Amino acid sequence: MHEFNLIQKYFTWNKPPSGVGVAVGDDAAVLNLSSNKQLVTSIDTFISGVHFPINTPPHAIEHKSLAVNLSDIAAMGATPKWFTLALTLPEIDSHWLQAFSKGLKQLAENYDCFLVGGDTTRGPLSISIQVMGDVDKGQSLLRSGAKIGDKIYVTGTLGDAAVGLQLIEYENNEFDQLSNQLFCEQRLNYPTPRVNEGVLIKHFASSCIDVSDGLLQDLSHILESSNVGATIDTSSLPLSNSLKSIEKEKAINYALTGGDDYELLFTVDPANESQFLMAINSDESYRCIGFITSNSGEVVDENDLLLKSVGYNHFD
Ligand code: ADP
Ligand code: MG
Repeated sequence: MHEFNLIQKYFTWNKPPSGVGVAVGDDAAVLNLSSNKQLVTSIDTFISGVHFPINTPPHAIEHKSLAVNLSDIAAMGATPKWFTLALTLPEIDSHWLQAFSKGLKQLAENYDCFLVGGDTTRGPLSISIQVMGDVDKGQSLLRSGAKIGDKIYVTGTLGDAAVGLQLIEYENNEFDQLSNQLFCEQRLNYPTPRVNEGVLIKHFASSCIDVSDGLLQDLSHILESSNVGATIDTSSLPLSNSLKSIEKEKAINYALTGGDDYELLFTVDPANESQFLMAINSDESYRCIGFITSNSGEVVDENDLLLKSVGYNHFD
């Protein structure tokens, strides 16, 4: 199949939304920007054998490479709108391409994000996706806005994906008591980008980041950017039923340090908290896990024991 036919068949999607002037098929995409908005954009690359095992099915690759980009846009409080796809393929495998493009389209449609362009080359399998979104001028959620006394919140549950990675990649057999292994594996391969949550919390949050490298690691980015510290109540970390089925201390360690959760971690000024709680309507998938302190760069637990500080990690 010629490259042109491949693009036409798999990556030229119908019904571009109204903000798209020119989509796939010309030398570049043309996108309409509203004057009261700012463009928010993020890119990530996934290389076979590096970021996912060689035999990962196309639906897992396509889901994760779009989802992690959507998660970055969500962490800015922005709304995803368009994306481009740079695809490097070792060969033209129409079954693979069919499954890949179908799944990609489905996930993109769920978040009203439209494929507007890309590039296709031959080589070892690699996928780069760049998502573009918009946000009202000056309203994006930054890492640098946390203030002393702010409450620390997180969406969803933590540590599931890290357990999933242990199960899949390392065939770790220390999880005999773990209930629902499949759940953890799905959390690793099919992260849910918290796009709706990002848009909702934007009105109340003072800072935000998505948890890709582990709670303590990503929290420390907020702390460094905001020049503050934090106290985390480890007994209030949100754990899935699956993680609750393993030894408590182990589960808490995974929740604090496990990567790939793609949940949102954000801070709320106590003055905005009651309005925030009203807006989320007692939704239990948002959990308060601690508060911001003046101990710059340091994270302690509920007993004031050091969990992490710049250059020191209790879990290393
Ligand atoms: P050029 O040689 O001018 O760079 P290409 O042949 O690379 O043009 O691309 C032609 C059109 O197809 C462009 O609109 C480009 O954005 C789009 N395109 C190429 N590859 C992809 C892809 N994998 N996904 C989406 N659009 C693609
Ligand atoms: Mg090109």
